[in-house]
Amino acid sequence: MDFDDTPEEASFRAHVRSVLEEHASELLHVAPGEPVDARSREAELRDTQRVLAEAGLVGVTWPREYGGQGGTLVQQAIVGQELGRARVPTLINHIGIGMCGPTVIAHGSDDQRSRYLARLLRADDVWCQLFSEPGSGSDLAALRTSAVRDGEDWVVNGQKVWTTLAHVADFGILLTRTDPSRPKHAGLTMFVVDMHAPGVTVRPLRQMSGGADFNEVFFDDVRIPDSERLGEPGEGWRVALTTLMNERVAIGGAGSDIGPSPESLTAHARDRLPALSPEQQVLARQAVGRALVASLATRYTGYRRFTTLSQGGVPGPEASAGKLGGTAAARLVTDAGVRLLGDEAVLGATADGDDTWQRAQAYVPGIAIAGGTDQVLRNILGERVLGLPPEPRTDKSAPFSSGGRR
Ligand SMILES: Cc1cc2nc3c(=O)[nH]c(=O)nc-3n(C[C@H](O)[C@H](O)[C@H](O)COP(=O)(O)OP(=O)(O)OC[C@H]3O[C@@H](n4cnc5c(N)ncnc54)[C@H](O)[C@@H]3O)c2cc1C
Repeated sequence: MDFDDTPEEASFRAHVRSVLEEHASELLHVAPGEPVDARSREAELRDTQRVLAEAGLVGVTWPREYGGQGGTLVQQAIVGQELGRARVPTLINHIGIGMCGPTVIAHGSDDQRSRYLARLLRADDVWCQLFSEPGSGSDLAALRTSAVRDGEDWVVNGQKVWTTLAHVADFGILLTRTDPSRPKHAGLTMFVVDMHAPGVTVRPLRQMSGGADFNEVFFDDVRIPDSERLGEPGEGWRVALTTLMNERVAIGGAGSDIGPSPESLTAHARDRLPALSPEQQVLARQAVGRALVASLATRYTGYRRFTTLSQGGVPGPEASAGKLGGTAAARLVTDAGVRLLGDEAVLGATADGDDTWQRAQAYVPGIAIAGGTDQVLRNILGERVLGLPPEPRTDKSAPFSSGGRR
């Protein structure tokens, strides 16, 4: 298999580079490893996304009728690589573009699509995904936030947690329970919620990496008009599955895009190994070798998945392998980098001025939880790809209000 750009991909890459050069002065650029706080840099991040959207580099895979470019996942990956190369930080609306927008496209009304999608691509509105709750993450269908019909509105009460970007979001996609008398997957309904509506409270959560990218969100008698429903009442699980399929592709990507690159690790190894004792060199070589094999394997498997999807394939349960492999590799790479650099990794002074190692070691474990934990992804792969017997699920057909007992 040839992993180099095809002539068409090379010309697309050249186009992306020229666009980034042309607009360089209007874009936010960050130093290697510099953390980007969405709260303090919100205005610059929104401006950057708007400039990129107007230049046709946002929503590359979205259909043209909704403001996208009708492009391929490979083109999307090329844009991502070139943004990284140009040191432009992750788009502020990456959750909106990767997960919320595709859900509105698939399940929204024409009115919702015309009101929301173009603004989302330009970061006029930032979006978040309000699924997880204190008692339901992996078992998402066990959520308790309720929505009760009242005339033309629904009244929402409950709590969400780990909501990335809720502190800057204008809208969210919100999964609620609307019928507790039905089995847990059947009584759910999805809405678009205005994050500035009365009764919505957002409280930041501090991570061990030092950032505060996600939040707790409380809903106290929040009124949502019925026109903001996504899909039919009781159909929320089907709508949520669209979001989750897109999430796996968005996070899984080409696997090794997570955390510092394997190339960066080899650069440090080349520099550091000669100074180590022969015994230490053996151990360091083994650690670097293990990390490289894992990282390159997930990267190339990711490219093959992109190729299949670009040829009309649909993201299936095997996309879980990309995320699982990518986060495992990222852990090996960051661990080897931190060990190789020792104290310098903690202080941030590394061979090439890149200070990402210690920070990455603190945030990579979170990626192994976000969008499906390692254990849950292994269950999905075991059941749906390998055909192993499913986990026993005693509460699948019982009314949710019976607490899972029939
Ligand atoms: C960085 C980050 C960003 C996030 N962003 C968002 C967001 O924007 N929106 C949102 O809605 N949520 C978000 N989340 C939440 C995330 O989706 C949940 O944390 C995740 O689904 C796990 O759920 P939980 O935390 O409730 O853990 P639990 O489900 O309680 O799991 C605890 C442990 O038990 C294991 N476990 C659970 N069930 C099984 C099983 N059946 N078999 C084997 N092991 C099992 C898990 O793997 C885990 O190790 C984010 C999380 C992180 C870390």
